[in-house]
Amino acid sequence: MENRLLGLLVEARSSIEKAASLDELENLRVNILGRKGTLTSLLKGLSDLPRELKPVIGKLANQIKEEILAALEKTRRILADVESQRRIVEGAVDVTLPGRSLPTGGTHPITRVTDEVCAIFKRMGFSVAQGPEIELDYYNFEALNIPKDHPARQMQDTFYVSDDVVLRTHTSPVQVRVMEKQAPPVKIIAPGRVYRCDSDLTHTPMFDQIEGLLVDKSVTFSDLKGVLIAFLHAFFGSSAEIRFRPSYFPFTEPSAEVDIECVMCKGSGCRVCGQTGWLEILGCGMVDPAVYKFVNYDPEEFTGFAFGMGVERLAMLRYGIDDLRLFFANDLRFLRQF
Ligand SMILES: [Zn+2]
Repeated sequence: MENRLLGLLVEARSSIEKAASLDELENLRVNILGRKGTLTSLLKGLSDLPRELKPVIGKLANQIKEEILAALEKTRRILADVESQRRIVEGAVDVTLPGRSLPTGGTHPITRVTDEVCAIFKRMGFSVAQGPEIELDYYNFEALNIPKDHPARQMQDTFYVSDDVVLRTHTSPVQVRVMEKQAPPVKIIAPGRVYRCDSDLTHTPMFDQIEGLLVDKSVTFSDLKGVLIAFLHAFFGSSAEIRFRPSYFPFTEPSAEVDIECVMCKGSGCRVCGQTGWLEILGCGMVDPAVYKFVNYDPEEFTGFAFGMGVERLAMLRYGIDDLRLFFANDLRFLRQF
């Protein structure tokens, strides 16, 4: 009996030490100390022993049980440590991995060009002014020297909201609104959306304009030329050839249109410039004294100039975009390029 107990202890210690997991260890515990375990069954033979041997073997059996329990506990601690280390390693977060990013667009080329144009004029001392897109006929036409029966109204296909209210056809009404509130000197640019009922390959019912106005004492046409040439050289590069052509607008006199040498063919003639070598970029002129009378400026004391340009056209030339519709499709593949 004694030998069998000691043998069991040796065997138990050895298999406990070899246990590779907590599960395996628990199985061993049940197999040795459980109700049907090896030690338990061995002790059932205790009752068959002679009376004088019972206390001795009983004591030994208890010691062996204690030792087995101690061995189990020791290995359990070791395995538990290993297990928790493994969990830490497996569950670890690698903080150096890049995060998951959301898909982004880009600044729309129209916004980008508007910002750039505004930045150039701000450097020349202009400030940005804004006005409503739903505009009174008075500001859109009448105060700009375009009365109801004026033939110039037919130059612009207007969306009428009512008889007196229109979707503004140009950013020029902002000029009038600013001059109404402010005495000269005035030095503003007004970017914004404008509307005309016109839609084909080169026209959209909504487009973007930037308007400029400078009114002060003794402003001349050469100031106009200087400011616009400085702007165009800043935007298109200092080598860009520029020309002024006489034109007509109801609210400026004299009026001019400004062309730059075609950025696509450098003046030799191509499809974009209609083989002329020149691209029309903006309209401008000296503010017609008739406009001053609507805002109570004295035309004897003040002179000024105004100019306006289409942002889509600038963006198409700047980025080599050949289809106006791309600006309105909001295709992220297009927009991400900017
Ligand atoms: Zn060309």
